[in-house]
Order: sequence, then structure tokens, then C-alpha cells
Amino acid sequence: MPFNKKPIKAVIFDYGNTLIEFGKTQIMYCDMALANTLDRLFGKADLAKFRKIRSRNRLAPYSGNPPEYRENNMVEISTSLVRELYGVEPSPEEVAEILRTRFAIFTKVIQAPDYVFDLLKKLGREYKLGLLSNYPDGNAIRQSLANIGLDGFFRSVVVSGDIGLVKPHPVPFLTLLDQLGVKADRAVIVGDNWLADVQGGKQAGLQTIWTTQWESPEDLPRRPGDFEPDATISHLSQLEGLLL
Ligand SMILES: [Mg+2]
Repeated sequence: MPFNKKPIKAVIFDYGNTLIEFGKTQIMYCDMALANTLDRLFGKADLAKFRKIRSRNRLAPYSGNPPEYRENNMVEISTSLVRELYGVEPSPEEVAEILRTRFAIFTKVIQAPDYVFDLLKKLGREYKLGLLSNYPDGNAIRQSLANIGLDGFFRSVVVSGDIGLVKPHPVPFLTLLDQLGVKADRAVIVGDNWLADVQGGKQAGLQTIWTTQWESPEDLPRRPGDFEPDATISHLSQLEGLLL
């Protein structure tokens, strides 16, 4: 079914690689900051092992058969990262320092492209806007939205870290729809992740717009029987043509 804007009352955005870029460069800066803190606290890290653990952690919520779609817990993954890399148990202060590092670098590396502000302003006149992000730290997402000046556009922000489950699980979608006061068939999700946004959105009963503007680092393979998106865009500015 092609995208139909008629019933739409709410536009829900994914964050990373939909509104803002969060690709290899941003991940590299985050990894470097984290590795520096680990070096300082525990000594030189085995970088190959470090990268392997980091990408395993990023994919952990989607693994398992069937996957439970449980979001990572920041304290647990930081503790087990130290355990695996150094064979020691980090103190609470050391864990807190790792969390501070991750928060600081995450909120620093994210930049909003200029056209996003104008687009959200225009869409906000016609629709309720929401943000639905998969990330283990909800406060980091909210701080980053505030830093780049995007926080005022969204009536509601739901982050997987706050509820413990990631998209494509239906609960994050239902939680945000409930906060917006909109039924699923009155909403569209715009996102880059084939599994989380497109499959999750369709399963929850929303229309979906898939964006291919940036490369998605945790993109998971398509499977037979997958839903197709209602529309596909290669740049976010194409939403104007679809929604306005
Ligand atoms: Mg994304």
C-alpha cells in the first residue's frame, strides 16, 4: 500500500540516522572516549577485543531466538566490559566514571543538520510530533536533543532505555502513541532501521516511511515475509512532499 497521509495525525521520528547522523564516525568518537577512560582507570585495553564487545553489545537487544528485544542496562554492560577486558571487578566509582564518559561524548558528537529545524517547524503545525529512540540511556537522548535545540519540537519522547524494551517490540510504539493520544492507524513512523522501525512500526499498526539517507550501523538483514515500508525516502527533506 502506498503511503496515505489522509488519516495521519502524528509523525513519529526515530533519532539516530533519521534526524541526525549516528554512523561510523560518531561511533568511533564514542569508542575512543570510552577506551581513553578505560586506559586511564585500568591500563591499555585490547582494542580488537574492545570493538568486538562493543558491537556485540549494540546488537544484543536483537539477538536470541526468538529475541526478547530487551534494552541493555548501562551499568551492567559497563561492568561486564571491564570484567571481560581486564578480568577485574570495577568499583562503583569507576562504573560511574565510565557512565559519565559515555554520556558526555554521546551528547557532544551529535549535530543536527540545518534543514531539520525548518522541517520540524512546518510538520509541527500540521501534526503531533514524537520521538522514539532505541538507546540504553534516555537522559543522554534528552540532553542531546536539548543541546542541539530539537527538544521543543516533540510533544513526547520515548527511549528504549526508559522502558527496558527496544523497537521492534510493540511496547515502545504503544507507549509513545498513548502519550501522544493517537491511535496506531493515525500515526506514521519515519526511521532508518529495517527491523526496529519498519518491521516494528508495521507490526504495531502504523504506516512507515523508511529513510536510507545514512548508513545504519546496526542494520539487520531482511527476512522473507517482511513488511514493505509505505514509502521510502533518500533524504529527510522529502518528507515535505509526502506529508505537507
Ligand atoms: Mg535509527
